[in-house]
Amino acid sequence: MVDETTPKKICLFGPQGSGKGTQAERLVGLFGVPHVSPGNIFRQAVAEGSELGLKVESIINSGSLVPDEVTNQLVKERLELEDCLDGFVLDGYPRNEVQAVALDEVSTLTHVIVIEIPDEESISRISMRRTCSNCGMTYHLQSKPSKVEGVCDSCGSELVQRDDDKPEAIRHRLNIYHQETEPLIKRYEDRGVLHRIDGRGSIDAVWERVQSCFFS
Ligand SMILES: [Zn+2]
Repeated sequence: MVDETTPKKICLFGPQGSGKGTQAERLVGLFGVPHVSPGNIFRQAVAEGSELGLKVESIINSGSLVPDEVTNQLVKERLELEDCLDGFVLDGYPRNEVQAVALDEVSTLTHVIVIEIPDEESISRISMRRTCSNCGMTYHLQSKPSKVEGVCDSCGSELVQRDDDKPEAIRHRLNIYHQETEPLIKRYEDRGVLHRIDGRGSIDAVWERVQSCFFS
């Protein structure tokens, strides 16, 4: 039985290629809570053309990272909306100590789930990603192939491997994860809300393990 009575303030951690985004979507479906990620918030702000959206857009276009203070403010405003009162699934945040401290001031997480996979698996999974050069739809040579090889199902354009999905770039991001994000996990372990999950195997197998964090 899944306990549905208490708020589920969930945060997912995991390296690139761990399937974290997919598991986050499943948790969102299971508990009926919003999926909160800085990436989604940025995209929405840019699409709305708000003052903040314009600011974020120019930062991203210049190739820089969005400063922590901007990200913290955006996430805070999102978590304070009414739909987050009964819980949320946080994904892609916090990424470093500064963000973790800011989050503590806004909310108290009830479940922190770390999806662990070895670096080599992360690299091999992401290297198989393909992205539509036109509409941005993503595919995976093994787990989500397009119907016709190299062609987008949705718009018929060519599928390409993004520079970000090449092994060198993945290694770089894994290093940042190990150096900046992984050390944060300790603070949640100390609070007794941490669950470590083996991220190897199929999406369904990992989902079973994720759900087991909520059986008590
Ligand atoms: Zn397409």
